This record gives sequence, structure tokens and C-alpha cells, in this order.
Amino acid sequence: PFSLEGKRVWVAGHRGMAGSAIVRRLEREGCEILTVGREALELRRQAEVEEWMAAARPDAVFLAAATVGGIHANSTRPAEFLYDNLAIETNIIHAAWRTGVRKLVFLGSSCIYPRLAEQPMREDALLTGALEPTNEWYAIAKIAGIKLCQAYRRQYGCDFVSAMPTNLFGYGDNFDLQQGHVAAALLAKIHQAKESGADTVELWGTGTPMREFLFVDDLADGLVFLAKHYSEEPHVNLGTGQEISIRGLAELLAEVIGYEGGFHFDTSKPDGAPRKVMDVSRMEAMGWTASTPLHEGFARTYAWYRSNLGKGT
Ligand code: GDP
Repeated sequence: PFSLEGKRVWVAGHRGMAGSAIVRRLEREGCEILTVGREALELRRQAEVEEWMAAARPDAVFLAAATVGGIHANSTRPAEFLYDNLAIETNIIHAAWRTGVRKLVFLGSSCIYPRLAEQPMREDALLTGALEPTNEWYAIAKIAGIKLCQAYRRQYGCDFVSAMPTNLFGYGDNFDLQQGHVAAALLAKIHQAKESGADTVELWGTGTPMREFLFVDDLADGLVFLAKHYSEEPHVNLGTGQEISIRGLAELLAEVIGYEGGFHFDTSKPDGAPRKVMDVSRMEAMGWTASTPLHEGFARTYAWYRSNLGKGT
């Protein structure tokens, strides 16, 4: 196993939901955590990344920097989702090889799998069918990231691994109603409805798509586990293996928030993939499972939201 103790560990994307959870989790590993803000390092600029990494000399890297967003953001900003993510991962992975990084953990996404992949989705479903059109730009970039890690391992012997997290939620998520992922957007919408006394909340699509949600602290724990114990070419799914419909998610959040009104589904908005649930048997076989029940994860996220963002809205 790879020990993080005493190592210089760079968390790229440390201000995001995933990156900030990784930083919190790494505080228990006795490593030196390196971070750099956007104002000091533009990750889409190759020369800047090479220069910064050559000076910072990380031993390990968690590549959690990405341009991310929900179904609306993905389908209306295709150039940003493709270019930003390709540039960030190309620059960091290449510079990691050049500067002798000993371990790199790349974060992908469950949307890399074909739209109609057999469920639950196994790692070997990658590139067996057409992608979901609403997020294919992001998916193509993330597939390229997996392949970069594999290629640098094959050609140069780099110990770069990839994890494919399912839909995430937690502290520091993007709660923007237009740009956010479904969990955060629904939490904000339902909170606002409760505060304003509204008796209905407008949701997108039919409410029937099935999704899987992983609490971000569980994600961080799984990524640290992989950094320490996994050194192979295939990417690994990170999730719970449990699924819930979008309507079921809305009802669960209503319970957490204490909203007693109803829901209306705007079926002119897209549903996205009909079903997305991960096969998590590879992680389980290695000895790792997610530990936070969904209700508890959302209760913690809602408490965070109220004390940080949801005051007076
Ligand atoms: P996806 O999992 O990649 O499809 O992306 P999202 O996390 O944005 O989830 C999209 C699913 O949630 C689709 O089935 C949407 O129709 C549904 N949904 C319902 N209401 C909302 C909302 O307010 N925001 C978002 N992002 N999705 C919503």
C-alpha cells in the first residue's frame, strides 16, 4: 500500500465540494496538504501548471478540479464542459509524470457509461454504447482522463488511478437553481418553498429517472482508500449501489426540510438518463463501502446550507 504519511499531497480543486471534502479527510493522514487558488494558478494553462508543479513537487495528487454542473448547465455550456475539463486533466496528468508524482487519483463521473448501459453499471461497460446526450461533453472529457491515466501507466509506469463517483451531494455544493445538480437544486428549491409558504415546487422532467447519491464525506474516504490501496489500470466505481427516483429524492428532501406542500413536474424539461446506478462490487471486494445513510447525509447538508447560505431566503 501507498502511505500518505509525511507526503506532500496536492488537492487540485480544493474549493469545490469534492476537493474540500478530500482536504478535510486528509487532515487525518499526517500528510502535508498543498492547495493553490484560481487567482494564483489557472489550471487550463499548461505552462502555469507545469511551472507550479515543478516548484511545489507534490508526491501525490487528487485531481478534483473540474467544470461541473447539472443537466441544464451540461447541455447549455458544451464548450466549457469539454474544453475546461480536457485542459485541466491533460495539464495536470502530463505535469504529474514530468515532475515524478508517485500517486495520482483522478475523479471521473458515472456519466462516462452508455445511456442505456446494463444496470447496475459495471466498470467494463465503458465505451460499449452511445452516451447520454445531455452530458456527453463532460463524459467525453472524463473518458479521456481515464485513458490518460491508463496511457501514462502503460508507457511510463506512472501510478495514476481513476475513480468514478456517482451523483454527489454535501457541504459546499452548487445550490444554484439553474446550474446545480439535482440534489442541491432540489434542496434549495424546497427550502425556499418552505420559507415562503409556497404549496408547490416545480421540478424538471417526469420524476421517474432513477439516480444514486453519495455523500461527499464518503466520497473523500473512498478516494483516500483508493490512493492507499489501489494501483491498477482499470477505473473503479465509487457509490452506494442504492438508487432512488427523482420524485423519491424530492420526498426525502421534503421530509428533511419539513416542507409539507406538493410537487409539480415540468415535463418540457429533460429527464436525462433513465437510470444510473453503480455496481460497487469492486470497491466492496477491496473492503470499502459507503457509510452515511442518505437521510443523515441530507440532514447534515441541510444544516450546513442553513448556516451558510439559506439564511433569510
Ligand atoms: P444527471 O444525473 O447527470 O442527469 O444530472 P442532474 O444531477 O442535474 O439530475 C438531473 C435529473 O433530475 C433529471 O432527471 C432532471 O429532470 C431531474 N430534475 C428535477 N428537477 C431538477 C432541478 O431542479 N435541477 C436539476 N439539475 N435536475 C432536476
